[in-house]
Order: sequence, then C-alpha cells, then structure tokens
Amino acid sequence: MKNIFDIPWIGPLARTVWPWRLIRLTLLVILLVMAAYGWHHHAIPGVAVPDPLMYTNIANYFLWVLWIMGVVFLALLMGRIWCSVCPLGWLNGVVARFGRQREIPRPLRNFIPVTLTLVALQLAVYLLAIHRFPDYTAVLIALMLLGTITCGLLFRQRAFCSLLCPAGAVFGLYARVAPWQLRVKDADICAACSDKPCVSGDSHWKQLSLGPALLSLHCRRPDCPVDLVPAEISDSATCSLCLHCAHNCDKENILLGRRPWLADLRGAALSPSETFFFVVLLGMVTTNFAKVFVELREAIFWLPQQAALLLGWAAPGFYLLAGLWVTLAFPLLLLLPAYLVLRLGELRTTVTAGSDLPLAPPAPPAPPPGFWRQLGELSLPLIPLLLAAHVVLAVVKLNAKIGYLPYVLQDPTGVKSYLAMNVMTTVTPPGVLIPLDLLKWLVLALLVGGFFLALLAARRVTPAFTRQSRTFVAAATTAALTMTLLYGATVIRWLFIR
Ligand code: SF4
Ligand code: SF4
Repeated sequence: MKNIFDIPWIGPLARTVWPWRLIRLTLLVILLVMAAYGWHHHAIPGVAVPDPLMYTNIANYFLWVLWIMGVVFLALLMGRIWCSVCPLGWLNGVVARFGRQREIPRPLRNFIPVTLTLVALQLAVYLLAIHRFPDYTAVLIALMLLGTITCGLLFRQRAFCSLLCPAGAVFGLYARVAPWQLRVKDADICAACSDKPCVSGDSHWKQLSLGPALLSLHCRRPDCPVDLVPAEISDSATCSLCLHCAHNCDKENILLGRRPWLADLRGAALSPSETFFFVVLLGMVTTNFAKVFVELREAIFWLPQQAALLLGWAAPGFYLLAGLWVTLAFPLLLLLPAYLVLRLGELRTTVTAGSDLPLAPPAPPAPPPGFWRQLGELSLPLIPLLLAAHVVLAVVKLNAKIGYLPYVLQDPTGVKSYLAMNVMTTVTPPGVLIPLDLLKWLVLALLVGGFFLALLAARRVTPAFTRQSRTFVAAATTAALTMTLLYGATVIRWLFIR
C-alpha cells in the first residue's frame, strides 16, 4: 500500500472530512463515557485492597492500558496517525474557530511546555498514583478537555497539541522511525498551483439546490495547524497528520502511505527543547523498565531516597524528589558516558619541533555546539532503541492485561468484576495471552533489534568516514550499549532467571 488515497472505495472516503469526523466524535463520546464511569469510583467499600478498580474500571483500563500502550504500536507502524483521529486535537480545532485566534506566544513555541506537562504527569503518578484510581483518571480526562477548550478559546488552531499533549511529542519522535508519511505525489503540480488551497485556510459558501429549494452553507476550510507546506515537508515529526491539506487539495496530490523505516533519521538533529523532551521520556521509560528488577530499581532510587532521609522528608517528599530525579537528572546521567566520548573526540594534539614551549598556542578550532545541541545530535540515533524499549513495555502490559477487556465492557464500573474475581471467586482472573516462555524471546529480539537499529541510525546520521563521524558513532554506540545493558539485564533477571 503506497497511498491510502489511491485505494478504491477507501481512498475517496478518506479524502473527505466526514469519516474522520465520525471517528473523532465516536472517540470523544468514549472519552466522556470513560470519565462518567470513573467519576466517584475510588475504591470498593469493605474491600481492603486500596486500588481494586485499577484494571476493571473502564476509565482506568481504557486510558492506562489500552490507549497508552496500544498507541505505541500505532506510532511504531504509522507515526503520528493517532493525531488524525484524536478527539482532543479535533475539539481544539473546532473550538478555535470561535475563539480569540491569537498566535501562541513566541517563548512557548518549543517543547518546553509539553516537557513540563510530562514531568507534572510523572509527579502525579508518583505522588497520587493517578493511574490506579478511576476517579483520578476521570479528573485527568476532565482536565484534558478543559485544557483543550481553553487552548481553543485563546489560540489559533490546535495549540493544545503543541503546548500540553505529551503524546503528540512522543509520536513526533517515533514518526522519524515509522514507515509512514504524508507527502505530495508530484512536486511539479504543487509548483504550478497558485492558490494552494491545501494550506490557505479560508471560508466559502456552498449551495445545494433541489428544484426551487436552495440551501446555502457557510463552510470554513481550516489551514495547516503547524504552518507546513506539503510540498516542502522534509520529515514526519512536525506534520500532525490532521489531514486538512488532504481534504483541501483540489488536485488530489497528497499521498499518505508507506515508506522505508528510519527514513527521517538522516535529517536534522533534535532541537534543544525537543532534546529536553527526549531526555525526560528516556528517564521515564528506563525507570518503568527497571521496575521489575528490584536491585536495579533500588539503585536508581538510592539517591532521592538518601536525600529524602537527610532532609527528614516523608513519603510525599521522597516521591517528589524521585519524580524530578527520574525525569531530569537520571537520564542525563545515563547519557553522560556517551557525551564524554563525544567531547574526548574533540581532543587535538599539536606537535611543535624544538625544545622550547611555543610562544603562541595553535589557533583554537571552531567552538563545538552547545551541550543541548550535541545531545540533540546524539539523541537522534537513539530513538529506535527507545521506541523498542517502549514497545517491549507495551507488549508486556497488553499481554498481561488484555484478558480484562471483556469484563470491562460487561461491567464498566469494574466493581462487580472485581468482586467476582477476587472476593466471591466465581470468575478466574484473566491470564496472559502469550506464555512467558515465548514472550521472553520476543522481548529480547525487540531489544536486540532496537540496539542494531540505533547503530544503523548512527551511521545514517553521519554517513561520511571522517574523524568527527567516527567519534559520533562511538558516542552513539556507547549510549546505545548503556541503555541496552540496562534493559537487557532487566529482561534477563525478570524473565529468564525467575
Ligand atoms: S498539495 Fe494540492 S493544493 Fe497544495 S500546493 Fe500541492 S497541488 Fe496545490
Ligand atoms: S501538512 Fe499540515 S495540514 Fe497537512 S496533514 Fe500535516 S499538519 Fe495537517
């Protein structure tokens, strides 16, 4: 499948807005249903377990198991495709039509706000365990809806997606690896296209007539929410796949379909603010991974634990320190050996004949790029490995919990299902989908695949065989090895030595 718009029946349908609107509306209704069933459900009276509804309530199960893990597979295969159907992004766009239409302030046009949102989410998970309780999850959904509407009322287009949605930023990273893209079919057609309706949003009247009856509709044509021009798209990270351009192009010149894997890893390094996001995500994924390896987990949390003891802080204080540690400091520590390799590669030796120290030192070479720029270059080839680790987490979670789905659909509050499984024991709790003896090899293969893809990506980023590129490949290999050893040790300890 090279272009979904060329598939008979599906293509013409996908080019129109209504099927997409229907999907987004359905997902919005599901989101509201989740919030309704999660609201006021915290625990079960008389049951001693503090979080009995974690996997049986629809709000928790759909958000933290099905969606948060399921979208990783979507991102792996189709980059930002979730953004095409996301009900929040769509709602933001709809509300923005009636809002103040302001531009996002320049200091916020980067990945800092979304990174801070991700850090805040991690803190909420540590401090309140929001992922364990349906009422907290329902509040989170309500806050997301509120954020969407507020952004829509204040700013032009989909400000929520770029300011407050960490999922969009994660998809943007993984879209560089995924074999999926939106491009134009023929650049010459675009060059000859003067009014460029694909991206020039405006409004127009549509008139439907049947005999003497005439119906006039005022239609708005939304423009590109991220100010891209389809013919100039060079990588898939920024395009949010909203499909406005595909709906607007009157020459049917937009292509949405397959391409080779890792296609965008030849492109520019991550910007400093996107590198900051990558670093936070790396910390979260790695800590999540190490959760099942007790000794490693204790080693990772040793420093915040000691700091909390020293300060005399109780559990909330420790969780605050732990949240900041795993999102900000620990991932930088993980990348430190690779960064040192990169800096050592800048070491130059100058030999001057004679026994006297030369009076004038040699002219210094051009200063290296700043810390975050260098880290941005280093992060690019690590994306496939981070994605592989993320996929492993998703596979393991879905494998263990997918069996709860029929019970969640039968009893969305989850109370009866929990009681039937754990109190009355009239129902056996669901088991795993793939036996662990098979799963462990699948997990190991994914990690090894991610490691070699990272090495391949490092070579793609610097295809030349200069000293600088050799240093870069050595640094990227160091980072990939550090990550793979941590993930591999966890998998071996957890699944192979049980
Ligand atoms: S994508 Fe379509 S509308 Fe946009 S410039 Fe190309 S031909 Fe014109
Ligand atoms: S280029 Fe712009 S309008 Fe087209 S799908 Fe991407 S974000 Fe949407």
